[in-house]
Amino acid sequence: MRDVCGDGQHEPQASRRDFLRTSVLVALAAWRMDVAVAADPPAPGAPPPPNAIAPAEALKRLMDGNARYAANTANERDFSSGRAARVLAQYPIAAILSCADSRVAPELAFDQGPGDLFVVRVAGNIVSLDLLASLEYGVHFLGVPLVMVLGHTGCGAVDAAIKALKTTADLPGHLPELISAIYPAVIIAEKMQSGTLLYNAVAENVRRQVARLKNFSSVVVPLYAGKKIDIVGAVYDLRTGEIALV
Ligand SMILES: [Zn+2]
Repeated sequence: MRDVCGDGQHEPQASRRDFLRTSVLVALAAWRMDVAVAADPPAPGAPPPPNAIAPAEALKRLMDGNARYAANTANERDFSSGRAARVLAQYPIAAILSCADSRVAPELAFDQGPGDLFVVRVAGNIVSLDLLASLEYGVHFLGVPLVMVLGHTGCGAVDAAIKALKTTADLPGHLPELISAIYPAVIIAEKMQSGTLLYNAVAENVRRQVARLKNFSSVVVPLYAGKKIDIVGAVYDLRTGEIALV
C-alpha cells in the first residue's frame, strides 16, 4: 500500500492530493458505517429496524400527529428518553423538505419526537442539489420510507416570486437564484381560474418539487418506482395548523 502521507520533500503536490483524497474516503466510510445499522438489511433473525414500515403507515403517523397538533392535543414528551439509543443510530419514518419559514416547524406540526423526522429546509421548499443530496442520503442510507415536500400558506418566498415577475426591481444577493426556481409554478398558477394566486402558486410549487424528486434522482427514482418509498406533497395552513395533501 502506498504511503499516503508521502514524503513532502520529494513529492509535495502528489502526496497532498493523495492525502486529501484518502481523508475524504475515510470520512465517507465512517459516515457510511455510522448509518449502516439503519440502512442495511437486518441480520437473519434480527428484528427489522423501527422505520421499516410501509410508506402509507408513515404518512398515517404524520397526519395523525398533525391532527393532534392542530387540536392542541400533542403528545407529552420526555426528550431525554431514548437519548442513549439515538447516539447509536437513527430511524426516521419520513424525510421532510420544508420551507425555512419560522412558523412552520415539521417536528411540531406532525407531533413527532427526536429521531422521527429527517428534515431539510430552504425558503420556498425547492429541490436544490444540496437538498436533493440530503434527501438521497435519507432514503438510501437511513431507510426512510416516505418523502414529503411541505409548503405553506402565506409563503414569503413564493410571494416574492410573484412580485418579482411583475417588476424590474432587482433582488439583493443570491435571492434571484432562489426565487427564479419558483417562477414556473407562478406562471402555471396565473392561469388557474379559481383560488388565490398565492395559494395556487404555493400548491403548484409543491407539486413541481414532488415531480422533480420523482424524476430527477438516480437514487430516489428506482426506490419510488419499486414502491419502496412514496413521495407526497402537502401544504401547511398557518391559520389552523392543519396540513393537507396537494
Ligand atoms: Zn415559505
